[in-house]
Amino acid sequence: MDDKNKKTKFVIIHSHMYQPPREDPFTGDFDFDFSAKPYECWNHRIAMECYFPNLYGRVFDKNGEIIEMINNYDYLNFNFGPTLLNWMEIKYPIYYKKIIDTVKKIKEKKGFSPAIAQVYNHTILPLDSFETQINQVVWGIKDFYNRFGFNPDGIWLSETAVNENVLRILIDHNIKYIILAPYQIKYCLDIKTKETKQVLPNEHYIWFDRNKEGKKIESRNINIFTYDLELSQKIAFENLTFNAEIFAKNIAEKTTPSNFILIATDGETYGHHHKFADLTLSYAFRYEFEKYSLKPITISEYLSTHSPKYEAEINEGIDGDGTSWSCSHGVRRWKGGCPCGDEGKYDTSWRFAFRLAAKWIDEVINDIYFEEGKKIFKDPLNTRLNYIDVINRKKGFVEFIKDHILKEDDEYYEKANKILLMIKYQMFSLTSCGWFFNDISRIEAQQDMKYALKAMTIAEELGYKGIEKGYLSLIEMAKSNFSKLKDGKNIYIKFVKPSKLKNEIIHSYLVLKTLFLNKENYSNLIYKIKIYEKNIIQNTIIAKAEIRDTENIKDFFVLLEFDFTDREKIKTKIKYYNDKNFKIEENNFEISFDEYSDKIQLELLKYIAQIAKERNIEFYEKEFEIFKSQIKINKNMAFENFEDDIKYFSFQLITAYLIKFIKSIDFSNIEKINDIIKTLKEINFEIDYRITNDIINLMPDFTEKLYNTQIEKEKLINLRNIFKELKIFPFLFHIENIIFEKFNTTSR
Ligand SMILES: [Zn+2]
Repeated sequence: MDDKNKKTKFVIIHSHMYQPPREDPFTGDFDFDFSAKPYECWNHRIAMECYFPNLYGRVFDKNGEIIEMINNYDYLNFNFGPTLLNWMEIKYPIYYKKIIDTVKKIKEKKGFSPAIAQVYNHTILPLDSFETQINQVVWGIKDFYNRFGFNPDGIWLSETAVNENVLRILIDHNIKYIILAPYQIKYCLDIKTKETKQVLPNEHYIWFDRNKEGKKIESRNINIFTYDLELSQKIAFENLTFNAEIFAKNIAEKTTPSNFILIATDGETYGHHHKFADLTLSYAFRYEFEKYSLKPITISEYLSTHSPKYEAEINEGIDGDGTSWSCSHGVRRWKGGCPCGDEGKYDTSWRFAFRLAAKWIDEVINDIYFEEGKKIFKDPLNTRLNYIDVINRKKGFVEFIKDHILKEDDEYYEKANKILLMIKYQMFSLTSCGWFFNDISRIEAQQDMKYALKAMTIAEELGYKGIEKGYLSLIEMAKSNFSKLKDGKNIYIKFVKPSKLKNEIIHSYLVLKTLFLNKENYSNLIYKIKIYEKNIIQNTIIAKAEIRDTENIKDFFVLLEFDFTDREKIKTKIKYYNDKNFKIEENNFEISFDEYSDKIQLELLKYIAQIAKERNIEFYEKEFEIFKSQIKINKNMAFENFEDDIKYFSFQLITAYLIKFIKSIDFSNIEKINDIIKTLKEINFEIDYRITNDIINLMPDFTEKLYNTQIEKEKLINLRNIFKELKIFPFLFHIENIIFEKFNTTSR
């Protein structure tokens, strides 16, 4: 026993899982991004390639059958970005819950959490104003608490960007540890011998705050763990994750029994950047690590039995404002002045002006917040730090604000709501991804501008006019590499400003979306829609709905009429009522199709086309019957005569049945699909079924519904087989997971 313990080598694999906020701040919906197809956005695509597969890491036998499912989060040290979890919580509550439960279970069992917090929406802390720095850290910690039920030991710093002021804020908020690259430490002393030592990877350091005289303050300290740069880079950028044996062997070779090894990478490495690396992890955790006496451990657990060996001072960076893990020029990647991310050919000088605009608006909006806040709040800073409880939906706004407001009065409430939202969106506009890549026209920079637009819109509603002008004059200096797109100002006007839509347009769009998705309730990050009544007569849809705008403390009741008889003149009428009896009309609007943004227009047209397809189903069914009777007479001739038709109507029919099934979980549609597959097999015709974005969009709801419906095992297995045959892998993935969750089996 003792012998075995001596040989044990600790491995810490930290996985930083994060996606920037992606919702449209006006509609609350997750923005459509064509580059993520067939998924509507990168959250969805990466979740399906990485975050979820790591929850159900498959181990296969020789025939490719799944024999085990391993939860990789049982072995990792990790953090999830709050804005990513917000998405997951809404779209895939079952997986979200599984992640939360995994952490809680480990914490309960071992006393240590594998999960740590993250700087809330991934801003570069050394570049933020003091208020924003505190806010980002506090929201990160409180968000963690609201989800997991306890405080985090560690926090992931966005891009590991750090300076001494950041460390002081972390100490103020009881953070015990952070992870840094070794080069972010300037020098270190051996605590026992007081000798200067070389800074190394895979080491445990401690940093002490100092008073004005430069004297160490013993009680104010934070642990710093340095990761193995070489190995982490090999894992992130080379082929180490292709094979579990090689993966384990490479780790083992660098590990000594006296020390731990710490690997830190973006979590997306395991499945997204490297396909099947999630499977490598599972196999390594389950079988390979043991061979080399490698023991996965969390930093919290390690800390509980180990003390730091070295005292460290951190690097100031070339400009004195700090360092990071993804830029070797301090933090210039996010403020201009270095070529990181230029792909060898792009000019990155746009970052100077874009940072300037961000800093300016950070200052302006913070000023407005405190100016207005001191008139209505007991303690404006405290109020905004606690506002995360409302964002996390732990508390309703009114319940929350009562403890903070000077006067319980509607006007005060409204202003309180507005300035807090303004601050939230202002902070979102600082999300680091906006600077990270090659050009200001990138969707990440546009998204930051969209949040700035929302913050400025609110400021304007409060009477502060003209901020946008100032902002535009600054981003105009940020020149795009693509001459057609000119500069930040042009990009803002063309691609960002159109998302600012009137309320009635947003409301009608969301009600329509709910109807087209065949749902009674729909919610996104801002709105909750409830349908009371719906009716489709010819090409007119009439519906009564309740709209709850969670950002406005107000409910709306609407009667909607959507007329698409004439595709050229699609019309929407929306009438507002003061209550759900729909008696007293308050307002009504007529919306022409052009008034919707391009994105919404596209989406609505897609839905209309779907209705047409559903109406055509009978026609295809007839065609299919004719084809079947032809087969009975002569298989070869039937195929010869119908080849193109078969391709076309089998695809159309399968899609129609599939959509019906996904929306209703009515298995008769699956039998019909099965019938088509069988018939096509008779003529040796292989279906080349390609899944489209329309169907992928229905997947989150489907997964939730399928999980919550009582279905016999046989039926689910049959469903799995049919989806396997159609090669609809994303859906297959969920079905396999559900079979595993419900029946604790992976096969038969
Ligand atoms: Zn750089």
